[in-house]
Amino acid sequence: MKLKNFLSIPIFSVFFVMGFVYYVTVFILIEDWVGLQTSAGSLNSMIFTTLACLCVLSFLVGVLTDPGRVPSSYIPDVEDTSFASDQEPKKNVLQSKYCDKCAAYKPPRTHHCRVCKRCILRMDHHCLWINNCVGYWNYKAFFNLILYATIGSIHSSVCIICSLSCFLKPI
Ligand SMILES: [Zn+2]
Ligand SMILES: [Zn+2]
Repeated sequence: MKLKNFLSIPIFSVFFVMGFVYYVTVFILIEDWVGLQTSAGSLNSMIFTTLACLCVLSFLVGVLTDPGRVPSSYIPDVEDTSFASDQEPKKNVLQSKYCDKCAAYKPPRTHHCRVCKRCILRMDHHCLWINNCVGYWNYKAFFNLILYATIGSIHSSVCIICSLSCFLKPI
């Protein structure tokens, strides 16, 4: 658990944006469109609330999960044929698997993150919005966050269009 990861302006910004979008969609757009007391309103607000909860959950997992630490006992397999070939001497292969900054060997697809100041297993990128690297252990949570946020945005956009069409409809 890395609770200190929460102490960043982008993280607070994400929470603020999520809260703002939730409030506007449920209490203004859906309310204006069909009303929260109706069955259509309850259903829409229930779907949007579920998406918002899944978003927050994926976000928390992405922030708090260690993206992937290289085990201190890791030693590269120099006999691995995918890395060692006749043209490439074993010494060079070993050098390419060595991180000078961490002073340790790293497995394939592991990269050193300048922000986290360590090597990350299967590093994708360092995400400012989760204040963490996206790597082996939190890639799925990050993917889910993007998925739920996209579906939620589409739902919210539909609510905006429907709410506006009700507002602009001549009486
Ligand atoms: Zn490193
Ligand atoms: Zn990082």
